[in-house]
Amino acid sequence: MSFSAWYRCIRGCPGRYDVFEVIYRCPVCGGLLEVAHDVAALAERSAATWRDLFAQRAGYGSGVWAKREWVLPQLADEHIVSLGEGFTPLLPAPRLARSLGLDDLWIKQCGVSHTGSFKDLGMTVLVSAVKQMMAQGSAVRAVACASTGDTSAALAAYAAAAGIPAIVFLPAGKISTAQLIQPIAHGARVLALDTDFDGCMRIVQEVTADRSIYLANSMNSLRVEGQKTVGIEIVQQLGWRAPDWIILPSGNLGNISALAKGLLLAKELGVIDRLPRLAAAQAERANPLYLAYRRGFDRLEPMTAGATAASAIRIGAPVSYEKAVAALRACNGVVEQVSEDELADAAALADRAGLYACPHTGVALAVAAKLARQGVIAAGQRVVVISTAHGLKFSEFKVGYHEASLADVIARHRNPPVMLPADAQAVKADLSRWLL
Ligand SMILES: *Cc1c(COP(=O)(O)O)cnc(C)c1O
Ligand SMILES: [Zn+2]
Repeated sequence: MSFSAWYRCIRGCPGRYDVFEVIYRCPVCGGLLEVAHDVAALAERSAATWRDLFAQRAGYGSGVWAKREWVLPQLADEHIVSLGEGFTPLLPAPRLARSLGLDDLWIKQCGVSHTGSFKDLGMTVLVSAVKQMMAQGSAVRAVACASTGDTSAALAAYAAAAGIPAIVFLPAGKISTAQLIQPIAHGARVLALDTDFDGCMRIVQEVTADRSIYLANSMNSLRVEGQKTVGIEIVQQLGWRAPDWIILPSGNLGNISALAKGLLLAKELGVIDRLPRLAAAQAERANPLYLAYRRGFDRLEPMTAGATAASAIRIGAPVSYEKAVAALRACNGVVEQVSEDELADAAALADRAGLYACPHTGVALAVAAKLARQGVIAAGQRVVVISTAHGLKFSEFKVGYHEASLADVIARHRNPPVMLPADAQAVKADLSRWLL
């Protein structure tokens, strides 16, 4: 059976473009492109056949390429660049559910991945495609991205695995130490610019305009095809039953659209029989989607995003706004925001329940609690929160919380170390007080 995929304009302009061509925007209207699949060909296989195939591939090295017919069917095996992405755990979190006021909470642990964030899902697709393009004589010499930290870590790792030069543009002083050192360690050209993410994004678009440097940001729709597998994996892990809600921390908005795209394809092919509702979770300091939502999605008003512990979603001019609005409308979605204090306490409660939540996951968890308080999430509903990065990438945030030094955070659940003399009596006295 032969499957195919091509680029088309998200605004419906006529025209199909090769997915291995260097093109990011519609030549007619300048809008973003998306990867379209030959759904009729995919639908020649029954839903049961797809479920069986995906079940057989559950031990496959990559959760993304386990769904390859739905992702990028024209990619040749020998060009796949995989570092074992996907197939991350989906954990029930009953203790955390109780402390957040939810009945049935699951955490999709995407940070348990090669570079510590869910950006690996999209990067395996993009870098594999570039490898195939280069093998076929394309003029592309390098890959480049602007990043709030996780995209550049993933790009640098996958490019290094493929032997392709990578260039990353980072907002100087606005990402964690772990995120900064990852692309440095992988040998990428690391350009720290005195601006924010949105400023880096403007520059990378100029630098990649000549087509010899391939743009790896999520306005490049190949990444979306890999990222979309997260939703398909969630419903697979739940026995092909959609949860009531999936909540995702959102910044540049490529991922909320990817999540919907995967779920809509699963629904269209009959692999699931209903869609979950989506909630896009934003930090109050970087909330352009939330503000647009409150105005009925009349338009995006770009803003200068303020400092937030959720640094990976500190974005004021999200590139994929239009796609996100379509995704939220298709999945009966909502947008909610939380403060620094709320996100930090939610992450701390997750840690107390045995997780180790990054600040972005804290945003999503705090939104889950808020939506439950508002009654938007009803009693008994099943909620999946996508944990987008590993807490270990954000040690500054964890240390700051427990030292009570984060701006605008009260840190109700802080647990600083106890300084004691090296004396057994003093230790016993302390422990008997603590265990009371
Ligand atoms: C990229 C990222 C997000 C948000 O994804 P967008 O597509 O930018 O909305 C959330 N959390 C983490 C940790 C990320 O790296
Ligand atoms: Zn167009």
